[in-house]
Amino acid sequence: MHATLPLIQSTDFPPIRRRRLETLQVNLGYRCNQSCLHCHVNAGPNRTEQMDAATADTVLDFLRASEVRRLDITGGAPELNPQFRRLVAESVELGVHVMDRCNLTILEEPGQEDLAEFLAARRVEVIASLPCYLEDNVDRQRGKGVFEKSIRALRRLNALGYGREGSELELCLVYNPQGPSLPPAQRALETDYRRHLSERYGVVFTRLLTLANMPIQRFGSTLVTKGQFNDYMRLLRGAHRDENLDGVMCRSLVSVDWQGQVYDCDFNQMLGLPLRVNGTPRAGLADLIGRDLEGNPIAVMDHCYGCTAGQGSGCGGALAA
Ligand code: SF4
Ligand code: SF4
Repeated sequence: MHATLPLIQSTDFPPIRRRRLETLQVNLGYRCNQSCLHCHVNAGPNRTEQMDAATADTVLDFLRASEVRRLDITGGAPELNPQFRRLVAESVELGVHVMDRCNLTILEEPGQEDLAEFLAARRVEVIASLPCYLEDNVDRQRGKGVFEKSIRALRRLNALGYGREGSELELCLVYNPQGPSLPPAQRALETDYRRHLSERYGVVFTRLLTLANMPIQRFGSTLVTKGQFNDYMRLLRGAHRDENLDGVMCRSLVSVDWQGQVYDCDFNQMLGLPLRVNGTPRAGLADLIGRDLEGNPIAVMDHCYGCTAGQGSGCGGALAA
């Protein structure tokens, strides 16, 4: 795989600082039942890195000691980590809103037969990747048969009340472009998704989130191989909007890796760019307990234009929405 860090290090991205921390995003490891082309964490079935029980305890200690009331759990397929259910259940007990970044096909993996019921019983918000409402496009990006399995999973979640009007069970779908282009307008695409998924498959959902592809890891490397990296960076930089700087997710989120190290966001985690506390890199989550990060400078490089281009992009979808 081509290294993309040297290509983004020299940057004129504007300096930004942290605001009040609202969300703890925890990556439970890189094991996944899929290995998608655009995956920015290079997850796959052969990855073995996963958060251990002691680090999961630190996550819970942090939540107990802080006012952060949103836990965003990601991976890999986070549900494959043996700590996943304990972390979810104990966080919910603490009054924390939990989000599970779920790839949908995991619901059909052995040992996960009761996963949907587990999530529903704890009012966990499901954020599910479905990069298109057309079968061919999804299967090309995420693997053969993934679309069909995803539709089955969505129907199961709908049957439990997920995504239904008036239901507390939120089901968000995540779109990202197939190639080196910016996502279309989130609201218009959501209307298309709703119509197509409901008419053809009887599937409903709460919201659509559009995310831009970041020029790093597997996607970035593919761009380098195809000679498209510089063009994609030009596209992102050319579409940069200063007003998006206010809403980039790193201002109110901390990302924790499977070993408990902290970063300004998931993308910086994948690049190995640590969050700096008092100028010192490589802080662990335990070091942040009782510490106020407001005003802390954020580690930015050229990939950050992926968050500020066009309608903007973050874990919660378009920033302008
Ligand atoms: S399902 Fe998600 S974590 Fe797994 S390989 Fe695909 S993009 Fe990566
Ligand atoms: S990639 Fe986006 S979220 Fe991460 S530090 Fe840059 S602007 Fe912030």
